[in-house]
Amino acid sequence: MENDTVEVIAIDGPSATGKSTTAKLVAKELGYTYLDTGAMYRAVAYLAENGELRVENSLNLNEIRISFDKNNQILINGVNREGEIRDPKISTVVSKYSAMPYIREALTARQREIGSGQPCVLDGRDIGTVVFPNAKYKFFLTADYGTRAARRLLELQAAGKALGETLESVEKNLRERDKADSEREIAPLVKAKDAIEIDTSHITIQQQVQKILQSVGEVARCKHSLGATRTG
Ligand code: C5P
Repeated sequence: MENDTVEVIAIDGPSATGKSTTAKLVAKELGYTYLDTGAMYRAVAYLAENGELRVENSLNLNEIRISFDKNNQILINGVNREGEIRDPKISTVVSKYSAMPYIREALTARQREIGSGQPCVLDGRDIGTVVFPNAKYKFFLTADYGTRAARRLLELQAAGKALGETLESVEKNLRERDKADSEREIAPLVKAKDAIEIDTSHITIQQQVQKILQSVGEVARCKHSLGATRTG
């Protein structure tokens, strides 16, 4: 299942805790591939909602091609759908699709395939618990609801998608998604026992990135010296 020799950095946590931005910067700094697994679930939700994919019984990933361009924007069957998958309408329905076992199975297999082939930073909900439970580096980001809602609203405003949205409506969606994602039967949102938790409420993105890079360095040094002790 998992190639232990390849470096995987798992960054899990609820929405709007800074996972994607942090993961992207960490990947850039280390020269690793970045994989936004939430975007993959959003892509499936987008296709299903638009009647372009039937997901009642099974998900045939051969029917859809999910890939990313060099700016990490999602391509669905070769077409850039980054704007569409970030729409608040998709945010309100995505958890329904991500709880479906065959959807998780198909996307998890694809994520393992990508993450096993190259050093990779993956962000999501179940990377450190299910997709790569043996990942060398695991992080779990959190933040308070006020901070998360403010961040998400700013993102929506910057993308021109905030029409009719308020701090309250955004926070409501975050709370509903957290509940659905944490209470589902398969691969719920939960911190892996060995993940390092980082509360991002009062720190900057740069500080988040630094904390992760520092921890990766420390874990790497520790594992290296343990390996040296064992073989030495
Ligand atoms: O990270 P983002 O908010 O874009 O994720 C959208 C949704 O995709 C989440 O609310 C969750 O339902 C689902 N997801 C998941 N497992 C992942 C990543 C995302 O179930 N690894």
